[in-house]
Amino acid sequence: MSKKIHKTDSEWKQKLTDEQYYVTRQAGTERPFTGKFNSHFEDGTYVCVCCGEPLFDSNSKYDHGCGWPSFSQARDNESITEKSDLGLGMRRTEIICSRCDAHLGHVFNDGPKPTGLRYCVNSASLDFTSEKIEEQE
Ligand code: FE
Repeated sequence: MSKKIHKTDSEWKQKLTDEQYYVTRQAGTERPFTGKFNSHFEDGTYVCVCCGEPLFDSNSKYDHGCGWPSFSQARDNESITEKSDLGLGMRRTEIICSRCDAHLGHVFNDGPKPTGLRYCVNSASLDFTSEKIEEQE
């Protein structure tokens, strides 16, 4: 992962659309089946909409039928941070971008084998590039 990014609230507001800001900086959730990547299945890499950090490879994306982009694994161990989320009366695991702390969504244990994981991610937190981005150390 490249260096941590810190921006003020108003800097993020300038850079992002209202919905991207609401989801990534205020831990919002887009309405299901409305996001631009829910039914998007091209080859490439999904990156953080805020900072460009590569988060998911297209080959881990699958259709869970829940209305949000779903991935069976993160691209690497470093770019996504997990946080306990006890909001809304549920015990969930929030996922955030390690580089800029953007809220991405949640990870659940009902994904496909072999990982058994479902990274349930808001389209508004993501951008897409058809490039395969190589691991960088
Ligand atoms: Fe980020």
